Amino acid sequence: MTACEQTTDVANPLPVPSAPAKPVPVPDDRSAAYWAAAAQHTLVIARCTRCGRYALPPPLVCTGCLTYEPELEYAPVSGQGTVRSWTVMRDAFLPGFQADVPFVLVDVELDEEPELRIIGRLVDGPDAELHLGDRVSVVFDDLGPGVAVPAFELVRA
Ligand SMILES: [Zn+2]
Repeated sequence: MTACEQTTDVANPLPVPSAPAKPVPVPDDRSAAYWAAAAQHTLVIARCTRCGRYALPPPLVCTGCLTYEPELEYAPVSGQGTVRSWTVMRDAFLPGFQADVPFVLVDVELDEEPELRIIGRLVDGPDAELHLGDRVSVVFDDLGPGVAVPAFELVRA
């Protein structure tokens, strides 16, 4: 069933809208390796083979060596990082998220490189005590068969 199809309740002849599905990643040539690794619960980041600079999303120009045609490889990273910022999502701006709000999105600087940042859902929930500089570790939200997206959980000392 697609998000637009509706079902009919026998006791109520009016159409009952089905819950909309969450959007899922649609990999392209540049991102296929990223999503394939995520499906295996491995975080990989594009890296310039010339200078070693990581980049997310994969860049058209490498910010490390400034080459306009960077050769990129996807390299596994630790998934460990530091919270730089966060926001609490209280409205579902996309279909399929209504049951999830409120939830927290964290802006994480990964340990591999300064300014290597990734945004993901914080699985600890909207009431988690959160501070700038808190340590987090990647986990994965399984959205369906072969589809997972990175998320983060707090690492408490
Ligand atoms: Zn480079």
